[in-house]
Amino acid sequence: MNHELVNTFLSGPDQNGCFGKFGGRFVSETLMPLILDLEKEYQASRTDESFRAEMEDLWTHYVGRPSPLYYAERLTEHVGGARIYLKRDELNHTGAHKINNVLGQILLARRMGKTRIIAETGAGQHGVACATVCARFGLPCIVYMGEHDVERQAPNVFRMRLLGAEIIPVSSGRGTLKDAMNDALRDWVTNVRDTFYCIGTVAGPHPYPAMVRDFQSIIGKEAREQMLAREGRLPDILVAAIGGGSNAMGLFYPFLDDRDVTIIGVEAGGQGIDDRIMHCASLTGGRPGVLHGNRTYLLQNADGQIQEGFSISAGLDYPGVGPEHAWLYETGRASYVAITDDEALAAFQTCCEHEGIIPALEPSHALAHVIKIAGDLPKETIICMNMCGRGDKDIYTVARALGMDISES
Ligand SMILES: *Cc1c(COP(=O)(O)O)cnc(C)c1O
Repeated sequence: MNHELVNTFLSGPDQNGCFGKFGGRFVSETLMPLILDLEKEYQASRTDESFRAEMEDLWTHYVGRPSPLYYAERLTEHVGGARIYLKRDELNHTGAHKINNVLGQILLARRMGKTRIIAETGAGQHGVACATVCARFGLPCIVYMGEHDVERQAPNVFRMRLLGAEIIPVSSGRGTLKDAMNDALRDWVTNVRDTFYCIGTVAGPHPYPAMVRDFQSIIGKEAREQMLAREGRLPDILVAAIGGGSNAMGLFYPFLDDRDVTIIGVEAGGQGIDDRIMHCASLTGGRPGVLHGNRTYLLQNADGQIQEGFSISAGLDYPGVGPEHAWLYETGRASYVAITDDEALAAFQTCCEHEGIIPALEPSHALAHVIKIAGDLPKETIICMNMCGRGDKDIYTVARALGMDISES
């Protein structure tokens, strides 16, 4: 399908929550009233001045927005081609973009009179953002986490506990993110009245994908204004890393109808895209199916069983991708590529050495693709990449990959 055939990309999803043939709400009857209630409240909040004012105040004084749009001069010289700009969302409180969305959802929960927040987390970054904002508002926070992830992500588990959250290790299934999502949905059905389910990416049943995108769109909205102020025009190319796809949708969304802006999402190619599924590239290496209440591209084996992904970056190993990305992919409005662990690791080091910025491994994937294409592009070309997280959390993983031991004695 040709994206020129689509009138506008800003109006999606339709009233059924579908982006083309993706999205929707595949949930049990018992969840339906909750989802409809959430949708109603969310729509109402969008035109509520006091809701917006409270969010903007916290964005400014608690999160530290707007994040800078930074011209990466030495990296640009090093690569020797297009001008590279970084949208610095790694400078947010808690070190990534996730707090933009969590803040929005928790304010919505308060507006709805909900008194108990539940969340699922894989690598723990969304859990930490939830625990942070719940502490800020004095709300109990319950985080479902696969028992394998609880083991693998000990520092984030400790952070969440320090912030007062309760962690529920999930042992059903394989004990990973997918199972944690199922248990969180089950909790929600059981505790209908007082509980709000805070989803961490542009996935889940409608209205979550659109709602999370809207909260994250502050990234693209700022980047657009900052780029116009700085360069007097829009960027030529946008690049962002894709786990579930929320930081990418946040950057991309305000530019979707600017057809001259090329949009590229970068998936985690792990050890390469082949039948072993040692990657997390749902679009470039997966097939459509239904998971977590929506229809989208998923990592699955020949029998349609959801497969656990693999990546050096724990934050990218969601086994699916937000339905809006599936739509942008199928219409051709955005293109998607995969970057391997090794390529991401090399970009991580380049960024440290040339810019004095230690990036998270997730945006290091985006950066690797930027480095790959920038050298062949004219110097007038402008690339804007979302630096969606900082790398302090990743230094142990990087040290191990580089064959060094930095464990504390
Ligand atoms: C969680 C996370 C991601 C992946 O999630 P998206 O929804 O795809 O943005 C990417 N980068 C960082 C730094 C993260 O914490």
